[in-house]
Amino acid sequence: MLKKVKDQIIKSSLFRSLRIRIFFILLIMGMIPSFITRTALLQNYEERAVNVKISEVSNQFKIIANHLLNYNYLQDASSEVINAELNQISNLYDGRVLIIDNNFKVIKDTYGISEGKTIISEEVLKCFKGENTTYYDNEDGFIEMTIPIVDSSNVKEDETPKIEGVLLSSISTDTIALTISILQRKAFVLEVLITISILVMSLATSHVLIKPFKKVTTAINEVKEGFTDEAISVPDYDETEHIVDAFNNVLRRMRTLDKSRQEFVSNVSHELKTPLTSMKVLADSLVMQEDVPVELYQEFMIDIAAEIDRENKIINDLLTLVKLDKTDGELNVEYVDINALLELLMKRLRPIARQQNIEVILESNRPVQAVVDEVKMTLALSNLVENAIKYNKQNGWVRVSLDADHQYFTVTIEDSGMGIPEEAMERIYERFYRVDKSHSREIGGTGLGLAITRNIILMHRGTIQVSSVETEGTTFVVKIPLTYSK
Ligand code: ADP
Repeated sequence: MLKKVKDQIIKSSLFRSLRIRIFFILLIMGMIPSFITRTALLQNYEERAVNVKISEVSNQFKIIANHLLNYNYLQDASSEVINAELNQISNLYDGRVLIIDNNFKVIKDTYGISEGKTIISEEVLKCFKGENTTYYDNEDGFIEMTIPIVDSSNVKEDETPKIEGVLLSSISTDTIALTISILQRKAFVLEVLITISILVMSLATSHVLIKPFKKVTTAINEVKEGFTDEAISVPDYDETEHIVDAFNNVLRRMRTLDKSRQEFVSNVSHELKTPLTSMKVLADSLVMQEDVPVELYQEFMIDIAAEIDRENKIINDLLTLVKLDKTDGELNVEYVDINALLELLMKRLRPIARQQNIEVILESNRPVQAVVDEVKMTLALSNLVENAIKYNKQNGWVRVSLDADHQYFTVTIEDSGMGIPEEAMERIYERFYRVDKSHSREIGGTGLGLAITRNIILMHRGTIQVSSVETEGTTFVVKIPLTYSK
């Protein structure tokens, strides 16, 4: 129930503002001490005032009790002096005084109502036993007290003095109540003043505390509107710094993405334009010349057809890459015999290797069955073996070996080719990156093969590693889980 109310308060738009929350917390925290102090002080004052009154009055009555004994008042209540004294004291304290003798008979009542009556109340009985009683009734505003009238004359040392009578009085505490109500009024005015100052201070404090967060919003908006490209900084609090750091990281990531997207677009346009430019040059030179021999026509047309093939290959590779990006995680997996997959793949690539007189060897260490997307896995591994053939030397060799443990299968593709320079190792998976552009172009590379391969391997939750020694050869190691898990 309480939690529901709390949720409701938090959900209401007013309390979702941090500034309003800080304001209310400070206000409440400021008001509670002033409220507690006021209540405690007033209560303390009341207690003290009542105690002072009781001790003052009981002293007075003790003196009177002695006078009563001196004047033998308990035996004969006609003494004018004592009566005047009793009336004076009851007027002074705005109260009533009753003198009760040891027969519990009221021999004097300053109100003159109960004279001659018998009073056997608990307080009177207690007082006759020697116990003074006081009772404060703050609702009706009076203190009732009993004082024993003790005759200590003619009492031997080991004897307890005899209680001859009881002085029962009830005095008004109106003056205390009046002082309390004046104090209360003053305290209220003070409290209002304190509340107003706390209110103003809370407003100012919440405004100041919230300022850095406003700065964060302004800074982010400035970046959003494009006024600045700089990384933003609001070091006022650790918290604002953390928010701003996170924002700067996102910004940096987005800029990197944007930069690579721009680079990709410009690379695509450039790559697609290159074959077109060649075709245009070839076609133009045929058009410009008169009486071109048929052989030249044929030769140029073969070149134009090769450029068309190249354009086609780039577009196909690009489409494959885009498709891989789009269907991120969507693999058509099934149980595949990896040995058979590699054998088929090698069979297809052997003719290309034969042209360069390159020996292609397949070593299967064990039969391997794995859950993979057969088409995509064939494409990924083909690219690697094709590269090992393409970037090899005459009479070189390519060795493909397959192994597995209980979790992964590993395909290692080694070649005796030209190798990859150290500084290029990190970039070979980038789209359109080629170590030697003209050489790659000559042998029909698009610079997209390794990007495609890496994407497919990552989709299978696998890894690809490369090691290479320039002029000696390159080794790619591909590790793929035997079972596919999303
Ligand atoms: P390409 O279509 O140009 O072969 P890839 O993305 O397949 O594009 O390869 C990128 C570059 O990495 C290649 O241009 C080549 O320079 C280098 N490379 C890839 N495989 C090998 C290899 N086995 N030996 C030497 N260089 C390689």
